[in-house]
Amino acid sequence: MAARHNLDEIRAAVRAKGLRATPSRLAVLELLRASDAPMSHGDVADRLANQAWDRATIYRNLTDLAEVGLARRTDVGDHVWRFEATSGEHEATAHPHFVCTECGSVECLPEIELAVRRAKAPRSVKQRQVEVQVRGLCDACN
Ligand SMILES: [Zn+2]
Ligand SMILES: [Zn+2]
Repeated sequence: MAARHNLDEIRAAVRAKGLRATPSRLAVLELLRASDAPMSHGDVADRLANQAWDRATIYRNLTDLAEVGLARRTDVGDHVWRFEATSGEHEATAHPHFVCTECGSVECLPEIELAVRRAKAPRSVKQRQVEVQVRGLCDACN
């Protein structure tokens, strides 16, 4: 989660997906990989505010990364797209997100196995192309 990924690895991952390894794109992906919670466009732009890139560039980088599968977009129900880095083998799996009903903070939770193999469930659920949400109070609000 908070493991330190070096820039060469990030550059290689971006190029392997056919994207140009621009400094802003590398910085955005590095930030997502270092974060243990999904980040909104505003979060990312604020964290990179000391750089010269405008918010539109950062937004385009986020959507580019999501399109090629290096990041995934998640909506925890407040209609704000949040972005998080995917790791190769977990690309298609959805892990649940904890959302605090008091302060709105969002955390990633470990993957859970959905027991839907034999159950009647839409294909998207069986393929884990769904959002799983857990709602409650975070430690700070509890
Ligand atoms: Zn809270
Ligand atoms: Zn997550």
